[in-house]
Amino acid sequence: MFSRILRLTALLSLSALLSHTAPVAAQPADTAPLPIIATIPVIADFVAEVGGDNVKVTSLVGAEADVHDFEPTPQTVRSLKSARLIVANGLGLESWLPRLLDAGHYQGAVVEATSGLTPLTLEEDGTLQADPHAWHDVSNARHYVTTIRDALKAADPAHAASYDANAAAYDAKLVDLDRWVKSRFDAIPKDRRAAITTHDAFQYFAKAYGLTLLAPLGLSSDEQPSAKNLKALIRQIRQNHITALFFEHQIDPRLMRQIAEETGTKVGPELYGDGLSAAGGEAATYLQMIRLNADRLATAMKVNP
Ligand SMILES: [Zn+2]
Repeated sequence: MFSRILRLTALLSLSALLSHTAPVAAQPADTAPLPIIATIPVIADFVAEVGGDNVKVTSLVGAEADVHDFEPTPQTVRSLKSARLIVANGLGLESWLPRLLDAGHYQGAVVEATSGLTPLTLEEDGTLQADPHAWHDVSNARHYVTTIRDALKAADPAHAASYDANAAAYDAKLVDLDRWVKSRFDAIPKDRRAAITTHDAFQYFAKAYGLTLLAPLGLSSDEQPSAKNLKALIRQIRQNHITALFFEHQIDPRLMRQIAEETGTKVGPELYGDGLSAAGGEAATYLQMIRLNADRLATAMKVNP
């Protein structure tokens, strides 16, 4: 009798100890974080902000990789198996996604974060195309976050209140960021708000904040400009008295150096067009990335006569 009580006490204290040291192991399976796949790091960042501890998000395109020439690997295909939700950008950014979903026999939900947004269009090879880089306008980022919040609530209604609260808190940060970027450029005379970027990732940013940003490459970063387009760009640089030129992260800088040499423009630091820097880097989050781009552009526009 006595030894049974002792054994029971030992068992109880052991389970108390376990529940203290290993709370994760003690959790039932249905509270495990929801596995989500985002196509690009910016969207993964939004999902992480809204999802918090209730989701586990991975980005298909890595932090330093280029979404325009993304090549899914067998491992990418396998990674779809465990996903409960895929969040894409849409507007033609992920042309490889339908084939990937087929290859992975993915049956779960797919949400396009730009769904419901009216895109800007650009001429590409003589035809009008939607410009997919909508997240560079911070007011559009707020739309992404709303879409993601609703998708998470649909996929995991048990944590709806948490997704609502996280989305509202992050939205307040986006409103602040938008105001800050506007004030940064408002301080610069209109005729000085011009620069050259590498590919056309920044049209939304330019429109939202009243800038003229010209680019030698089209919507996709993997095409080379024709000699004719390059000549036209150099003419525009001279006509607009543009003095600042920016490399984009992930893009071969030789072309930009050539343009800088021909036009006598100053080469500024890198901008982040499609990607983010790796965790711990200078632009590892959306908020950091927009601040950095705005700061670099505004500084160059101010400094250059
Ligand atoms: Zn791009």
